[in-house]
Amino acid sequence: MSIRVAVVGASGRMGREVVKAVLGADGIELVATVDVVNIGEEAGSLSGLAACGVFVEESLETALARGNVDALVDFTIPTSAMANIETSVRHKVPAVVGTTGLTPADVETIRGWSAEFGTPVFIAPNFAIGAVLMMQFSQQAAKYLPNVEIIEIHHERKLDSPSGTALRTAELIRDSRESSPLPSPANPIEKVAGARGAEFGEVHIHSVRLPGHVAHQQVIFGGTGETLTIRHDSFDRVSFMPGVIVAVRKVRDLTGVVIGMENIL
Ligand code: NAP
Repeated sequence: MSIRVAVVGASGRMGREVVKAVLGADGIELVATVDVVNIGEEAGSLSGLAACGVFVEESLETALARGNVDALVDFTIPTSAMANIETSVRHKVPAVVGTTGLTPADVETIRGWSAEFGTPVFIAPNFAIGAVLMMQFSQQAAKYLPNVEIIEIHHERKLDSPSGTALRTAELIRDSRESSPLPSPANPIEKVAGARGAEFGEVHIHSVRLPGHVAHQQVIFGGTGETLTIRHDSFDRVSFMPGVIVAVRKVRDLTGVVIGMENIL
C-alpha cells in the first residue's frame, strides 16, 4: 500500500519541488497540499507538472481530519512549522520537517509533543546527501584540526541566518574536537561590528545572502602551514529531494524525534 503524503508549504520554493518529487516517487501518493497562498490552485500544475487532482487548501487541521494521511512534509517558516508539527503529531501523523530556524527550545517542545502522542518526527537541517557528507567529513577533520570557520551562502530570500546546516555543522564540530581551538585574539580590532561573523560552539560562522545562489557552504580548517576546505553546493532544490523521499519512507518507523539525515541513511 502506498504512503499517503500531505505537503505543507506546497506553494513555496521547496514545497513545489517536494510536490514534484512525491508525484514522481514509486509507492508514495500525494493526498493533500496546504499553504497560506495559492489556495484552491491545483498542486500538480502549480509545480509545473500535469494536474494530479490535489488542490492547495488552507487548513492543515481539515486536511488531517480526513484521516487519509500517513506522513506529513513541512517546508514553511519556523513559526508556522511549530503549529503544523503540533497539529500533525496530535493527529498521529508522523512528520518530516525541513523548515530551518527552529530553536533548541522548539526542538524540546517537539520532543514533548512526540512523546505525549507517540508520533515520530524527523527533522533535517539539510536533506542533500552531499551536505550530510560535508558535515560528517567536517566532524572527522575537527578531531585533528580544531581551528575552523564556516562560510555559508544562500539566496537573498532565506529568512534565517546562520543556516540550519551551518549551526548543525558547528554543533558536530564542537562535539568531536579533541582539543580546543586557538583562542580568538585577545584584543581584536573589529573595525566594523560583525566582521568576524557570529560565534556558535567556538566556531565563527559567516552568512552571505545573495541572489543567484541556492545553498552553499565551505568549512575551512586551518592547521600548521596548511588548510583544508570542505565545500558543498546545492545548485538546485532538486538536490534535497532524494533525502526527503527517504525520510518519507522511513519516518513512520522512527521513535520520538530524530534529527539529521545521517541517522536514517
Ligand atoms: P518559501 O518559498 O518562502 O516557502 C515557504 C512556504 O510556506 C510559502 O509558500 C509560505 O507562504 C508557506 N507558509 C507559511 N506559513 C504557512 C502555514 N502556516 N501553513 C502552510 N504554509 C505556510 O521558502 P522555501 O525557500 O521553500 O524554504 C522553506 C523552508 O525550508 C525554510 O525554512 C528553508 O530554510 C528550508 N529549507 C530546508 C532545506 C533542508 O534541506 N532542510 C533546504 C532548503 C530550504 P508565504 O510565502 O505566504 O509565507
